[in-house]
Amino acid sequence: MFNEKNNILYLDDEKINLIPFNESFKDDYNIFLAYNRNEALKILEENEIKVLITDQRMPDISGIDFIKEINTVNKDIVCIILTAHPDNESLLSAINQVNVFRFLVKPWKNYDVKQTINSAIEAFDAKIEKHQFIKDLTKALQKAEEYDRLKSSFLANLSHEIRTPLNSIIGFTSLLANKSVDKNTKKEFEKIIHNSGNQLINVIEDMLTASQIETGVSKISDSIFCLNDFLQSIYNNYKQSALEKKIKLYIKGFDEHKQLFIKTDKTKLHEVFNQLLRNAIKYTDSGSIEFGISEKNDKVFFVKDTGTGIVKNEQEIIFEFFRQKFEKLNTRLYGGNGLGLSIVKGFVSMVGGEIWLDSEPGKGSTFFFNFPYTLMTNNKKFSDKNILVIANDEITHFYIQEFLQYIKVNLFRTCKGKEAIEYCKTNHVDLVIMDIEILEMNGFEAAKLIKANKPDLPIIALTAYDKFKDKSNGIFNDYVIKPAKKEKLECIKTHLFK
Ligand code: ADP
Repeated sequence: MFNEKNNILYLDDEKINLIPFNESFKDDYNIFLAYNRNEALKILEENEIKVLITDQRMPDISGIDFIKEINTVNKDIVCIILTAHPDNESLLSAINQVNVFRFLVKPWKNYDVKQTINSAIEAFDAKIEKHQFIKDLTKALQKAEEYDRLKSSFLANLSHEIRTPLNSIIGFTSLLANKSVDKNTKKEFEKIIHNSGNQLINVIEDMLTASQIETGVSKISDSIFCLNDFLQSIYNNYKQSALEKKIKLYIKGFDEHKQLFIKTDKTKLHEVFNQLLRNAIKYTDSGSIEFGISEKNDKVFFVKDTGTGIVKNEQEIIFEFFRQKFEKLNTRLYGGNGLGLSIVKGFVSMVGGEIWLDSEPGKGSTFFFNFPYTLMTNNKKFSDKNILVIANDEITHFYIQEFLQYIKVNLFRTCKGKEAIEYCKTNHVDLVIMDIEILEMNGFEAAKLIKANKPDLPIIALTAYDKFKDKSNGIFNDYVIKPAKKEKLECIKTHLFK
């Protein structure tokens, strides 16, 4: 391994000392030699010298005075006096006044000099390490103070973000009770209450998501879904808010006639688009918003707006927790908690992607992000898949049908256990969704009997019991608690292609 030698400077006016010194130690150290003060100063200026060894009695300056002089600008260098007169009293008292590490006596013993230089190098390295440590600590402290300041302003903001919708909810709810308010106005009030409730949920959800990212609780969970439907449903969610601000909203970058199935963390991708689109709408007062897949690279998604834009020096920091543009000024104009983009960055990094932006103040911003996904091949078509749903109530059937309508699987339904078992025996079934409360027998028994014939057939339990544990020794491959949320039903698609 390459071992860089340490730089040592030896200052002595007598060549008779300098030459043997160099010969004795040049293999161990990088030796610099100086005959006088000026030469020594030049070497010190041009090189990082760890140890200075100086003669005491020299014509232009004494060793002690030279050390005093250089210590005014360089406090780290470790200094050693090499003298032929160690018993000189004035030398001893002078040593006490300056920063001398050791003194050595001429004629020197090579072994002693080497030992002393090595200890001096260690002392130098320890000093540098200490400086670095202090520097790192100071930086960490500054960061902590900055974080603290941001957290305080976040809390102040947050209180505003929570109070505003709460006030609306309380105020308009009491107005609703007023008998003189007509029907149309009541509807208007209900809409305000509804929107305020959503605003409140967003703030709380952002806080929870941010803390889950920070504490590493949030985990990746992949599912298979149709990208077209996914982008379309996002469009549907935001078209109303865009319309209210008279902004045009477009989806870009996919062939609407070709169903594109991908496997990735849908919930996180959804949240990233949500946050970016919420911001795009918030910070755009006219023009348009486009979102979708980049034309140049189909693994890159984007959200583009014609809004306020972001100045260059703020473009990096807006991804940090609690950061908001013009921290105090402008944000109050727009509202917000400074968490959105840090959540976006957290999620994108978690799946191994990156986020960057292109923005010009007054013109708008485009946020690009790559979000790795696996493209499902054609042989994994949902339309080839057969799902049997066993449930006792119409609502469950209807809900599952609604949820699966976009992926166009073949759905078969029954409410009876025996019929289900028979169906699985005589037909090709790719997945079973089994309600626990069904006719003729309970879901556990029915699942057990189906698995007795088809052990590899995935069965997903549907249950209203929120502490459901598979009591039948892992007979179910998964379970969904009723009322089944859409995100929970995603596991159906995942199990279809396992
Ligand atoms: P906030 O809740 O303040 O919107 P975010 O983390 O989502 O917090 O965004 C941080 C800051 O980045 C915002 O305060 C805003 O100044 C700026 N920003 C984010 N998106 C946009 C955008 N599309 N256009 C202009 N500025 C934006």
